[in-house]
Amino acid sequence: MDGTLDNDIRAVVDADRAHVWHHLTQHKPFETGDPRIIIEGKGMRVWDQNGKEYLDAVSGGVWTVNVGYGRAQIADAVRDQLMKLCYFAQSAGSIPGSIFAQKLIEKMPGMSRVYYTNSGSEANEKAFKMIRQIAHKKYGGTKHKILYRDRDYHGGTLAAMSAGGQDERNMQYGPFAPGFVRVPHCLEYRKEELGLGHLSGREFGIAAANLIEEVILREGPDTIGGLCLEPVTAGGGVITPPEGYWERVQEICKQYNILLHIDEVVCGIGRTGSQWFGYQHYGIKPDFVTMAKGVASGYAAIAICVTTEEVFEMFKSDPSDKLDHFRDISTFGGCVAGPAAALENMKIIEDEGLLENCTAMGARLMGNLRALMEKHAVIGDVRGIGLFQGAELVKDRTTKEPVDEKDMAAVVAACGAAGLIIGASNRSIPGRNNVLCFSPALIVTADDIDFITNTVDAALTKVFG
Ligand code: PMP
Repeated sequence: MDGTLDNDIRAVVDADRAHVWHHLTQHKPFETGDPRIIIEGKGMRVWDQNGKEYLDAVSGGVWTVNVGYGRAQIADAVRDQLMKLCYFAQSAGSIPGSIFAQKLIEKMPGMSRVYYTNSGSEANEKAFKMIRQIAHKKYGGTKHKILYRDRDYHGGTLAAMSAGGQDERNMQYGPFAPGFVRVPHCLEYRKEELGLGHLSGREFGIAAANLIEEVILREGPDTIGGLCLEPVTAGGGVITPPEGYWERVQEICKQYNILLHIDEVVCGIGRTGSQWFGYQHYGIKPDFVTMAKGVASGYAAIAICVTTEEVFEMFKSDPSDKLDHFRDISTFGGCVAGPAAALENMKIIEDEGLLENCTAMGARLMGNLRALMEKHAVIGDVRGIGLFQGAELVKDRTTKEPVDEKDMAAVVAACGAAGLIIGASNRSIPGRNNVLCFSPALIVTADDIDFITNTVDAALTKVFG
Protein backbone atom coordinates (compact mmCIF):
# COMPACT_ATOMS: atom_id res chain seq x y z
CA MET A 1 0.00 0.00 0.00
CA ASP A 2 1.68 3.22 -1.02
CA GLY A 3 -0.99 5.47 0.50
CA THR A 4 -0.88 7.89 -2.42
CA LEU A 5 -4.10 6.72 -4.06
CA ASP A 6 -7.41 8.23 -3.09
CA ASN A 7 -9.74 5.85 -1.32
CA ASP A 8 -11.95 5.06 -4.30
CA ILE A 9 -9.02 4.17 -6.53
CA ARG A 10 -7.34 2.25 -3.71
CA ALA A 11 -10.49 0.16 -3.39
CA VAL A 12 -10.40 -0.54 -7.11
CA VAL A 13 -6.77 -1.61 -7.02
CA ASP A 14 -7.40 -3.83 -4.00
CA ALA A 15 -10.44 -5.43 -5.65
CA ASP A 16 -8.33 -6.09 -8.74
CA ARG A 17 -5.49 -7.59 -6.71
CA ALA A 18 -7.92 -9.80 -4.85
CA HIS A 19 -10.14 -10.99 -7.68
CA VAL A 20 -9.07 -10.24 -11.24
CA TRP A 21 -7.08 -12.75 -13.23
CA HIS A 22 -5.22 -10.65 -15.82
CA HIS A 23 -4.60 -11.90 -19.33
CA LEU A 24 -1.14 -13.14 -20.27
CA THR A 25 0.08 -12.34 -16.78
CA GLN A 26 2.13 -14.15 -14.21
CA HIS A 27 0.50 -12.95 -10.99
CA LYS A 28 3.22 -13.54 -8.45
CA PRO A 29 4.54 -9.94 -8.62
CA PHE A 30 1.09 -8.59 -7.65
CA GLU A 31 1.43 -10.18 -4.23
CA THR A 32 3.94 -7.48 -3.40
CA GLY A 33 3.18 -4.72 -5.93
CA ASP A 34 0.08 -3.32 -7.58
CA PRO A 35 -1.27 -4.23 -11.01
CA ARG A 36 -1.45 -1.41 -13.52
CA ILE A 37 -4.99 -0.12 -13.88
CA ILE A 38 -5.68 2.12 -16.84
CA ILE A 39 -8.25 4.67 -15.76
CA GLU A 40 -8.70 6.93 -18.74
CA GLY A 41 -7.75 7.47 -22.37
CA LYS A 42 -7.82 10.46 -24.70
CA GLY A 43 -6.45 10.48 -28.23
CA MET A 44 -3.04 8.74 -28.13
CA ARG A 45 -2.69 8.89 -24.37
CA VAL A 46 -3.80 6.91 -21.32
CA TRP A 47 -3.54 7.51 -17.56
CA ASP A 48 -3.02 4.90 -14.85
CA GLN A 49 -4.22 4.76 -11.24
CA ASN A 50 -1.34 6.96 -10.11
CA GLY A 51 -2.28 9.66 -12.59
CA LYS A 52 0.80 8.84 -14.67
CA GLU A 53 0.40 9.70 -18.34
CA TYR A 54 1.61 7.39 -21.10
CA LEU A 55 1.75 7.68 -24.85
CA ASP A 56 0.25 4.39 -25.99
CA ALA A 57 2.34 3.11 -28.88
CA VAL A 58 0.44 -0.18 -29.09
CA SER A 59 -3.20 0.96 -29.45
CA GLY A 60 -4.54 -0.52 -26.25
CA GLY A 61 -1.77 -3.08 -25.90
CA VAL A 62 -2.77 -5.30 -28.79
CA TRP A 63 -3.24 -3.31 -32.03
CA THR A 64 -6.84 -2.41 -31.30
CA VAL A 65 -7.72 1.25 -30.70
CA ASN A 66 -7.04 2.37 -34.27
CA VAL A 67 -8.86 5.71 -34.04
CA GLY A 68 -7.61 6.61 -30.55
CA TYR A 69 -9.39 7.01 -27.21
CA GLY A 70 -12.34 9.18 -26.19
CA ARG A 71 -14.26 9.41 -29.46
CA ALA A 72 -17.60 10.99 -28.56
CA GLN A 73 -18.91 10.25 -32.05
CA ILE A 74 -18.62 6.50 -31.50
CA ALA A 75 -19.88 6.65 -27.92
CA ASP A 76 -22.96 8.64 -29.02
CA ALA A 77 -23.76 6.24 -31.85
CA VAL A 78 -23.44 3.25 -29.51
CA ARG A 79 -25.64 4.89 -26.87
CA ASP A 80 -28.32 5.78 -29.42
CA GLN A 81 -28.26 2.26 -30.81
CA LEU A 82 -28.44 0.64 -27.37
CA MET A 83 -31.51 2.72 -26.53
CA LYS A 84 -33.15 1.78 -29.83
CA LEU A 85 -32.20 -1.90 -29.83
CA CYS A 86 -29.35 -3.46 -27.83
CA TYR A 87 -29.57 -6.97 -29.11
CA PHE A 88 -31.29 -9.46 -31.26
CA ALA A 89 -29.89 -12.80 -32.41
CA GLN A 90 -28.21 -12.49 -35.79
CA SER A 91 -30.65 -14.98 -37.32
CA ALA A 92 -32.50 -11.69 -37.90
CA GLY A 93 -30.81 -8.61 -39.33
CA SER A 94 -30.31 -5.15 -37.80
CA ILE A 95 -30.02 -1.64 -39.24
CA PRO A 96 -26.33 -1.04 -38.39
CA GLY A 97 -25.49 -4.67 -39.17
CA SER A 98 -26.88 -4.37 -42.68
CA ILE A 99 -25.42 -0.96 -43.43
CA PHE A 100 -21.99 -1.78 -42.07
CA ALA A 101 -21.92 -5.01 -44.09
CA GLN A 102 -22.58 -3.05 -47.26
CA LYS A 103 -19.96 -0.39 -46.49
CA LEU A 104 -17.39 -3.02 -45.58
CA ILE A 105 -17.96 -5.01 -48.76
CA GLU A 106 -17.53 -1.79 -50.80
CA LYS A 107 -13.97 -1.73 -49.44
CA MET A 108 -13.35 -5.39 -50.28
CA PRO A 109 -13.80 -5.99 -54.02
CA GLY A 110 -14.35 -9.68 -54.71
CA MET A 111 -15.82 -10.36 -51.27
CA SER A 112 -19.52 -10.52 -50.56
CA ARG A 113 -20.90 -11.89 -47.27
CA VAL A 114 -20.43 -10.72 -43.70
CA TYR A 115 -20.83 -13.15 -40.78
CA TYR A 116 -20.89 -11.37 -37.39
CA THR A 117 -19.31 -12.79 -34.29
CA ASN A 118 -17.44 -11.36 -31.32
CA SER A 119 -13.76 -12.21 -31.13
CA GLY A 120 -10.91 -12.81 -33.51
CA SER A 121 -10.61 -16.42 -32.38
CA GLU A 122 -14.28 -17.01 -33.06
CA ALA A 123 -14.15 -15.34 -36.46
CA ASN A 124 -11.32 -17.71 -37.40
CA GLU A 125 -13.22 -20.70 -36.06
CA LYS A 126 -16.17 -19.73 -38.26
CA ALA A 127 -13.90 -19.86 -41.32
CA PHE A 128 -12.46 -23.21 -40.17
CA LYS A 129 -15.97 -24.60 -39.75
CA MET A 130 -17.01 -23.36 -43.17
CA ILE A 131 -13.94 -24.98 -44.74
CA ARG A 132 -14.70 -28.23 -42.92
CA GLN A 133 -18.34 -28.15 -43.98
CA ILE A 134 -17.38 -27.52 -47.60
CA ALA A 135 -15.10 -30.57 -47.35
CA HIS A 136 -18.09 -32.64 -46.22
CA LYS A 137 -20.53 -31.17 -48.73
CA LYS A 138 -18.26 -31.36 -51.77
CA TYR A 139 -15.57 -33.93 -51.09
CA GLY A 140 -17.10 -36.55 -48.77
CA GLY A 141 -15.06 -35.12 -45.87
CA THR A 142 -11.66 -35.90 -47.37
CA LYS A 143 -10.47 -32.38 -48.20
CA HIS A 144 -10.69 -31.25 -44.59
CA LYS A 145 -7.17 -30.38 -43.45
CA ILE A 146 -6.30 -26.78 -42.73
CA LEU A 147 -2.77 -25.49 -43.18
CA TYR A 148 -1.43 -22.80 -40.88
CA ARG A 149 2.01 -21.24 -40.65
CA ASP A 150 4.82 -21.36 -38.14
CA ARG A 151 4.81 -18.10 -36.09
CA ASP A 152 1.21 -17.12 -37.06
CA TYR A 153 -1.46 -16.82 -34.34
CA HIS A 154 -5.18 -17.19 -34.82
CA GLY A 155 -6.62 -17.11 -31.33
CA GLY A 156 -6.91 -18.65 -27.90
CA THR A 157 -9.75 -21.14 -28.36
CA LEU A 158 -8.69 -24.73 -28.81
CA ALA A 159 -9.24 -25.07 -32.56
CA ALA A 160 -7.61 -21.68 -33.13
CA MET A 161 -4.69 -22.90 -31.02
CA SER A 162 -4.58 -26.06 -33.12
CA ALA A 163 -3.79 -23.64 -35.95
CA GLY A 164 -1.32 -21.79 -33.73
CA GLY A 165 2.23 -21.44 -34.97
CA GLN A 166 3.72 -20.09 -31.73
CA ASP A 167 4.74 -23.12 -29.70
CA GLU A 168 5.47 -21.04 -26.63
CA ARG A 169 1.76 -20.19 -26.40
CA ASN A 170 0.60 -23.76 -26.89
CA MET A 171 2.78 -25.45 -24.29
CA GLN A 172 0.71 -27.28 -21.64
CA TYR A 173 -2.62 -26.97 -23.52
CA GLY A 174 -2.57 -30.03 -25.77
CA PRO A 175 -3.79 -32.27 -27.14
CA PHE A 176 -5.10 -30.15 -30.00
CA ALA A 177 -7.71 -30.72 -32.69
CA PRO A 178 -6.64 -33.02 -35.52
CA GLY A 179 -6.50 -31.94 -39.14
CA PHE A 180 -4.36 -28.82 -38.73
CA VAL A 181 -0.98 -28.98 -40.44
CA ARG A 182 1.90 -26.55 -40.07
CA VAL A 183 3.83 -24.93 -42.92
CA PRO A 184 7.12 -23.01 -42.49
CA HIS A 185 7.34 -19.25 -41.86
CA CYS A 186 8.72 -16.76 -44.40
CA LEU A 187 10.96 -14.51 -42.32
CA GLU A 188 13.84 -13.45 -44.54
CA TYR A 189 15.94 -12.27 -41.58
CA ARG A 190 16.06 -15.87 -40.37
CA LYS A 191 16.07 -17.59 -43.73
CA GLU A 192 18.86 -19.95 -42.62
CA GLU A 193 16.30 -21.73 -40.42
CA LEU A 194 14.38 -22.55 -43.60
CA GLY A 195 17.43 -23.88 -45.41
CA LEU A 196 17.15 -20.93 -47.81
CA GLY A 197 20.13 -18.91 -46.58
CA HIS A 198 21.58 -18.75 -50.09
CA LEU A 199 18.57 -16.93 -51.57
CA SER A 200 17.37 -13.35 -51.28
CA GLY A 201 14.64 -11.00 -52.53
CA ARG A 202 12.12 -12.47 -54.94
CA GLU A 203 13.96 -15.78 -55.21
CA PHE A 204 13.72 -16.21 -51.48
CA GLY A 205 10.03 -15.23 -51.47
CA ILE A 206 9.11 -17.79 -54.10
CA ALA A 207 11.18 -20.50 -52.44
CA ALA A 208 9.53 -19.75 -49.07
CA ALA A 209 6.10 -20.11 -50.68
CA ASN A 210 7.21 -23.34 -52.32
CA LEU A 211 7.81 -24.74 -48.84
CA ILE A 212 4.02 -24.64 -48.47
CA GLU A 213 3.67 -26.63 -51.68
CA GLU A 214 6.06 -29.25 -50.30
CA VAL A 215 3.75 -29.77 -47.32
CA ILE A 216 0.72 -30.00 -49.60
CA LEU A 217 2.39 -32.65 -51.72
CA ARG A 218 3.54 -34.56 -48.64
CA GLU A 219 0.04 -34.56 -47.08
CA GLY A 220 -1.77 -35.10 -50.39
CA PRO A 221 -3.56 -32.17 -52.10
CA ASP A 222 -6.87 -34.03 -51.91
CA THR A 223 -6.72 -33.84 -48.13
CA ILE A 224 -6.14 -30.08 -47.85
CA GLY A 225 -9.19 -27.80 -47.79
CA GLY A 226 -7.80 -24.49 -46.55
CA LEU A 227 -4.74 -22.38 -45.93
CA CYS A 228 -4.96 -19.81 -43.12
CA LEU A 229 -2.34 -17.05 -43.02
CA GLU A 230 -1.83 -13.62 -41.55
CA PRO A 231 -0.94 -11.20 -44.37
CA VAL A 232 1.78 -9.85 -42.09
CA THR A 233 2.45 -11.95 -39.00
CA ALA A 234 1.80 -9.90 -35.86
CA GLY A 235 2.46 -11.50 -32.46
CA GLY A 236 4.84 -14.02 -33.99
CA GLY A 237 7.44 -11.29 -34.47
CA VAL A 238 6.11 -8.80 -37.06
CA ILE A 239 6.96 -10.81 -40.16
CA THR A 240 6.47 -8.97 -43.44
CA PRO A 241 6.17 -11.22 -46.47
CA PRO A 242 9.16 -11.34 -48.81
CA GLU A 243 8.84 -10.18 -52.41
CA GLY A 244 7.03 -12.65 -54.67
CA TYR A 245 5.73 -14.70 -51.73
CA TRP A 246 2.04 -13.91 -51.92
CA GLU A 247 1.87 -14.20 -55.69
CA ARG A 248 3.23 -17.73 -55.45
CA VAL A 249 1.01 -18.64 -52.47
CA GLN A 250 -2.03 -17.58 -54.46
CA GLU A 251 -0.91 -19.70 -57.42
CA ILE A 252 -0.41 -22.73 -55.17
CA CYS A 253 -3.89 -22.37 -53.67
CA LYS A 254 -5.38 -22.19 -57.14
CA GLN A 255 -3.41 -25.14 -58.45
CA TYR A 256 -4.42 -27.45 -55.58
CA ASN A 257 -7.95 -26.08 -55.14
CA ILE A 258 -7.29 -24.85 -51.60
CA LEU A 259 -9.43 -22.12 -50.03
CA LEU A 260 -7.41 -19.14 -48.85
CA HIS A 261 -8.30 -17.71 -45.46
CA ILE A 262 -6.62 -14.42 -44.57
CA ASP A 263 -6.54 -13.50 -40.89
CA GLU A 264 -6.79 -9.70 -40.79
CA VAL A 265 -7.50 -9.54 -37.06
CA VAL A 266 -4.47 -7.25 -36.62
CA CYS A 267 -3.88 -5.90 -40.14
CA GLY A 268 -7.51 -5.08 -40.96
CA ILE A 269 -9.17 -1.67 -41.04
CA GLY A 270 -6.25 0.53 -41.89
CA ARG A 271 -3.39 -0.67 -39.70
CA THR A 272 -1.07 -1.23 -42.69
CA GLY A 273 -1.76 2.17 -44.31
CA SER A 274 -3.12 3.21 -47.75
CA GLN A 275 -5.34 0.13 -47.98
CA TRP A 276 -8.15 -1.01 -45.72
CA PHE A 277 -6.66 -4.52 -45.43
CA GLY A 278 -3.21 -6.03 -45.36
CA TYR A 279 -4.01 -8.49 -48.15
CA GLN A 280 -4.80 -5.62 -50.51
CA HIS A 281 -1.10 -4.63 -50.58
CA TYR A 282 -0.19 -7.96 -52.11
CA GLY A 283 -2.88 -8.52 -54.74
CA ILE A 284 -4.34 -11.47 -52.84
CA LYS A 285 -7.77 -12.83 -53.72
CA PRO A 286 -8.97 -14.53 -50.55
CA ASP A 287 -11.94 -16.82 -50.06
CA PHE A 288 -12.29 -15.84 -46.39
CA VAL A 289 -11.18 -12.74 -44.53
CA THR A 290 -11.48 -12.56 -40.75
CA MET A 291 -11.14 -9.35 -38.73
CA ALA A 292 -11.71 -8.06 -35.22
CA LYS A 293 -9.52 -5.62 -33.30
CA GLY A 294 -9.65 -2.42 -35.36
CA VAL A 295 -13.18 -2.99 -36.70
CA ALA A 296 -14.64 -0.86 -33.90
CA SER A 297 -11.32 0.15 -32.31
CA GLY A 298 -12.33 -1.55 -29.06
CA TYR A 299 -15.41 0.67 -28.50
CA ALA A 300 -17.52 -2.49 -28.81
CA ALA A 301 -16.69 -6.16 -29.21
CA ILE A 302 -17.19 -7.13 -32.82
CA ALA A 303 -15.51 -9.61 -35.13
CA ILE A 304 -16.35 -10.71 -38.63
CA CYS A 305 -15.78 -13.54 -41.04
CA VAL A 306 -16.21 -12.31 -44.63
CA THR A 307 -16.57 -14.72 -47.54
CA THR A 308 -16.94 -14.56 -51.29
CA GLU A 309 -20.36 -15.11 -52.86
CA GLU A 310 -18.98 -18.35 -54.26
CA VAL A 311 -18.37 -19.70 -50.75
CA PHE A 312 -21.79 -18.46 -49.61
CA GLU A 313 -23.47 -20.15 -52.59
CA MET A 314 -22.09 -23.52 -51.49
CA PHE A 315 -24.21 -23.23 -48.35
CA LYS A 316 -27.46 -22.45 -50.18
CA SER A 317 -28.77 -25.95 -50.48
CA ASP A 318 -32.16 -27.56 -50.98
CA PRO A 319 -34.53 -26.07 -48.35
CA SER A 320 -36.13 -29.49 -47.87
CA ASP A 321 -32.92 -30.63 -46.20
CA LYS A 322 -33.23 -28.74 -42.93
CA LEU A 323 -29.74 -29.65 -41.74
CA ASP A 324 -27.92 -28.46 -44.82
CA HIS A 325 -26.86 -24.90 -44.01
CA PHE A 326 -24.17 -23.28 -41.89
CA ARG A 327 -25.36 -24.59 -38.53
CA ASP A 328 -23.60 -22.04 -36.39
CA ILE A 329 -24.49 -19.19 -34.09
CA SER A 330 -22.57 -16.67 -32.02
CA THR A 331 -24.81 -15.15 -29.34
CA PHE A 332 -22.94 -11.88 -29.12
CA GLY A 333 -22.65 -11.65 -32.89
CA GLY A 334 -26.10 -10.15 -32.39
CA CYS A 335 -24.92 -7.23 -30.22
CA VAL A 336 -25.89 -4.27 -32.33
CA ALA A 337 -23.45 -1.92 -30.58
CA GLY A 338 -20.70 -3.63 -32.61
CA PRO A 339 -21.72 -2.57 -36.12
CA ALA A 340 -22.99 0.79 -34.78
CA ALA A 341 -19.50 1.50 -33.44
CA ALA A 342 -17.85 0.03 -36.55
CA LEU A 343 -19.78 2.39 -38.82
CA GLU A 344 -18.56 5.47 -36.95
CA ASN A 345 -15.05 4.05 -36.72
CA MET A 346 -14.94 3.66 -40.49
CA LYS A 347 -16.35 7.15 -41.00
CA ILE A 348 -13.65 8.65 -38.76
CA ILE A 349 -10.93 6.86 -40.74
CA GLU A 350 -12.37 8.25 -43.97
CA ASP A 351 -13.17 11.78 -42.77
CA GLU A 352 -9.78 12.27 -41.11
CA GLY A 353 -7.71 10.67 -43.88
CA LEU A 354 -6.27 8.12 -41.45
CA LEU A 355 -5.22 5.58 -44.10
CA GLU A 356 -2.96 8.29 -45.54
CA ASN A 357 -1.74 9.39 -42.12
CA CYS A 358 -0.93 5.77 -41.34
CA THR A 359 1.28 5.53 -44.43
CA ALA A 360 3.04 8.85 -43.78
CA MET A 361 3.60 8.24 -40.06
CA GLY A 362 4.55 4.63 -40.74
CA ALA A 363 7.29 5.87 -43.08
CA ARG A 364 8.53 8.25 -40.39
CA LEU A 365 8.52 5.47 -37.78
CA MET A 366 10.43 3.15 -40.11
CA GLY A 367 12.96 5.90 -40.91
CA ASN A 368 13.50 6.60 -37.21
CA LEU A 369 13.83 2.90 -36.36
CA ARG A 370 16.39 2.44 -39.15
CA ALA A 371 18.36 5.37 -37.74
CA LEU A 372 18.27 3.67 -34.32
CA MET A 373 19.57 0.51 -35.95
CA GLU A 374 22.65 2.43 -37.13
CA LYS A 375 23.28 3.51 -33.57
CA HIS A 376 22.40 0.37 -31.59
CA ALA A 377 24.05 -2.89 -32.63
CA VAL A 378 21.45 -4.74 -30.55
CA ILE A 379 18.83 -4.03 -33.23
CA GLY A 380 19.32 -6.87 -35.71
CA ASP A 381 16.35 -6.14 -37.96
CA VAL A 382 13.58 -3.62 -38.40
CA ARG A 383 10.46 -4.56 -40.33
CA GLY A 384 6.81 -3.74 -40.78
CA ILE A 385 4.26 -1.90 -42.85
CA GLY A 386 2.19 1.18 -42.03
CA LEU A 387 1.81 1.63 -38.28
CA PHE A 388 2.62 -1.99 -37.60
CA GLN A 389 6.35 -2.34 -37.03
CA GLY A 390 8.88 -4.29 -35.03
CA ALA A 391 12.57 -4.16 -34.11
CA GLU A 392 14.20 -7.50 -33.44
CA LEU A 393 16.86 -7.39 -30.73
CA VAL A 394 19.82 -9.77 -30.88
CA LYS A 395 22.96 -10.29 -28.81
CA ASP A 396 25.09 -10.50 -31.92
CA ARG A 397 24.22 -9.55 -35.49
CA THR A 398 26.10 -12.54 -36.89
CA THR A 399 24.71 -15.29 -34.67
CA LYS A 400 21.32 -13.51 -34.36
CA GLU A 401 20.89 -14.95 -30.90
CA PRO A 402 17.88 -13.26 -29.28
CA VAL A 403 18.58 -10.96 -26.33
CA ASP A 404 17.67 -12.23 -22.87
CA GLU A 405 14.09 -11.86 -21.68
CA LYS A 406 15.19 -9.78 -18.68
CA ASP A 407 16.83 -7.24 -21.01
CA MET A 408 13.69 -6.97 -23.12
CA ALA A 409 11.67 -6.47 -19.96
CA ALA A 410 14.14 -3.79 -18.88
CA VAL A 411 13.69 -1.92 -22.20
CA VAL A 412 9.90 -2.06 -21.92
CA ALA A 413 10.10 -0.94 -18.27
CA ALA A 414 12.48 1.94 -19.08
CA CYS A 415 10.04 3.12 -21.75
CA GLY A 416 7.17 2.79 -19.27
CA ALA A 417 9.03 4.86 -16.68
CA ALA A 418 9.50 7.53 -19.35
CA GLY A 419 5.79 7.52 -20.19
CA LEU A 420 5.70 5.26 -23.23
CA ILE A 421 3.87 1.96 -23.61
CA ILE A 422 5.38 -0.36 -26.22
CA GLY A 423 4.92 -4.08 -26.85
CA ALA A 424 7.22 -7.06 -27.01
CA SER A 425 6.52 -10.15 -29.03
CA ASN A 426 8.17 -13.47 -29.28
CA ARG A 427 10.19 -14.51 -32.28
CA SER A 428 10.82 -18.16 -31.58
CA ILE A 429 12.45 -19.16 -28.34
CA PRO A 430 9.92 -19.95 -25.58
CA GLY A 431 10.06 -17.26 -22.92
CA ARG A 432 12.17 -14.92 -25.01
CA ASN A 433 10.27 -11.99 -26.42
CA ASN A 434 12.84 -10.25 -28.55
CA VAL A 435 10.83 -8.10 -30.94
CA LEU A 436 9.87 -4.61 -29.80
CA CYS A 437 6.44 -3.83 -31.25
CA PHE A 438 5.10 -0.47 -32.31
CA SER A 439 1.51 -0.01 -33.40
CA PRO A 440 0.28 3.43 -32.41
CA ALA A 441 -3.22 4.61 -33.30
CA LEU A 442 -3.64 5.86 -36.86
CA ILE A 443 -4.05 9.42 -35.54
CA VAL A 444 -0.41 9.54 -34.37
CA THR A 445 1.52 12.74 -35.16
CA ALA A 446 5.14 13.29 -36.22
CA ASP A 447 5.95 14.58 -32.72
CA ASP A 448 4.47 11.44 -31.18
CA ILE A 449 6.54 9.24 -33.50
CA ASP A 450 9.70 11.12 -32.56
CA PHE A 451 8.82 10.80 -28.87
CA ILE A 452 8.40 7.04 -29.34
CA THR A 453 11.75 6.51 -31.02
CA ASN A 454 13.66 9.00 -28.80
CA THR A 455 12.34 7.18 -25.74
CA VAL A 456 13.30 3.80 -27.16
CA ASP A 457 16.73 5.20 -28.03
CA ALA A 458 17.27 6.24 -24.39
CA ALA A 459 15.94 2.90 -23.12
CA LEU A 460 18.28 0.90 -25.37
CA THR A 461 21.24 3.02 -24.22
CA LYS A 462 20.26 2.46 -20.60
CA VAL A 463 19.96 -1.31 -20.94
CA PHE A 464 22.63 -2.16 -23.53
CA GLY A 465 24.97 0.85 -23.32
N1 PMP B 1 -5.67 -13.49 -35.06
C1 PMP B 1 -4.63 -12.68 -34.84
C2 PMP B 1 -3.69 -12.41 -35.96
C3 PMP B 1 -4.45 -12.10 -33.58
O1 PMP B 1 -3.39 -11.31 -33.34
C4 PMP B 1 -5.40 -12.37 -32.57
C5 PMP B 1 -5.31 -11.72 -31.19
N2 PMP B 1 -4.11 -11.22 -30.80
C6 PMP B 1 -6.46 -13.25 -32.85
C7 PMP B 1 -6.57 -13.77 -34.11
C8 PMP B 1 -7.46 -13.61 -31.78
O2 PMP B 1 -8.31 -12.56 -31.50
P1 PMP B 1 -9.13 -12.54 -30.14
O3 PMP B 1 -8.18 -12.32 -29.03
O4 PMP B 1 -10.10 -11.40 -30.34
O5 PMP B 1 -9.85 -13.84 -30.02
